[in-house]
Amino acid sequence: MRDLISIIVPCFDEEEALPIFFIELEKERKMLPCDSEVILVDDGSKDNTPDIIRKFAEKYTGVRYVLLSRNFGKEGAMLAGLKEAKGDYAAVMDADLQHPPRMLAVMYDALKNPPEGEHPESAACYRTRKGGKPLGSPVSRFIRKRFAKLSGIDIPVGATDFRMVSRRMLDIYLSLSESNRFSKGLFNWIGFETKWIPYEDEKRCAGRSSWSRSGLYGYGFEAILSFSDKPLKYGAALGAISCTLALILAVWVVIKTIIWGDPVAGFPSLFCMILFMGGSILLFLGLIGRYISKIYLETKHRPPFVTKETGGGGLGEKQQMSDSDGRSV
Ligand code: UDP
Ligand code: MG
Repeated sequence: MRDLISIIVPCFDEEEALPIFFIELEKERKMLPCDSEVILVDDGSKDNTPDIIRKFAEKYTGVRYVLLSRNFGKEGAMLAGLKEAKGDYAAVMDADLQHPPRMLAVMYDALKNPPEGEHPESAACYRTRKGGKPLGSPVSRFIRKRFAKLSGIDIPVGATDFRMVSRRMLDIYLSLSESNRFSKGLFNWIGFETKWIPYEDEKRCAGRSSWSRSGLYGYGFEAILSFSDKPLKYGAALGAISCTLALILAVWVVIKTIIWGDPVAGFPSLFCMILFMGGSILLFLGLIGRYISKIYLETKHRPPFVTKETGGGGLGEKQQMSDSDGRSV
């Protein structure tokens, strides 16, 4: 029997890019050596995206859709689509052609016919510059590597959400119950072999990215907090080093005063020390606060998304509103 790939596409205000992307995807689907279904997920768009999605689902076979009740963010939208997937494999890709549909066949082949000794359960794409050169300047690559170390997530520079996973990996991913999700990290945490495949970076085909630079840094920071308690360990280490230094300094000042009778000088240095210590304490208190707020939100057990409507691909009739666990709301 032929394999079925579920292709999940989260869409947020994509009325300009989605039609261009969808035509490309349809072309590529016809050339896949297996069956495929498309699950378009509208993440609470304010433009015409839901209508476009409904039309595609009506017109094309093997296209289903999920409309969320509001904007839950890309992670929620991806999860909504992955929960709907019926395939032996599931792929997630953006709706703006930055994730080239031709890579679907490459990822499927990597999973289906791996070289001897490799057993990947997941194939993921990472961006490179034209000519296959690594992305970003040496400095930004260095920062990203430190970032990866701090979060404990071992993924290449330029890693994207463009990925295909086996049913086995998908079922484990779906069984992870946390509502604050960072999928790149979660797939990494599951730990099966991932085949990383490079592709040349593409520009968005139309419309605008919903990420600002500060939003991206915020996302990276959240990723570290979701995945690692290393910042707290570094905080404790800094505290320990400061205490040791303060002790050594105090002993030195006492000895200096007793032996040489030097008066203790240095109001400016004292001022700097107090400022530095006060700042560090506030910084790490803030960090602890962020961890506590994560625990607080997690204990509420709120679903990461709420579905408003599903349809297409044989599902046909509009279904009742339900949350991510299928409970009616
Ligand atoms: N997206 C989403 N919900 C959001 C933001 C983005 O579903 O709240 C979708 C968006 O429609 C696109 C993909 O996630 O298909 C990537 O978004 P975008 O192109 O804005 O991000 P970038 O490529 O700049 O990282
Ligand atoms: Mg994009």
